[in-house]
Amino acid sequence: MKASTSRCPTCRGPAKRDGNKLFPFCCERCQLVDLGRWLAEEYRVPAEERDATGGGIEPVTPQTDDGVN
Ligand SMILES: [Zn+2]
Repeated sequence: MKASTSRCPTCRGPAKRDGNKLFPFCCERCQLVDLGRWLAEEYRVPAEERDATGGGIEPVTPQTDDGVN
């Protein structure tokens, strides 16, 4: 068993564990790539669900005519 090296989920390259703030990623770029991919999934799933159920989420509109003046 390797003690301090693992595989980077993004590039499948070796990622050091010791003193690596980005672990399990090998570098900041790979971390951002994975994060971006993850966020893309997050946005895509609710959009598909909303489309399938036929709505339910109303757009939030700022109230401009609420007698502020
Ligand atoms: Zn990597």
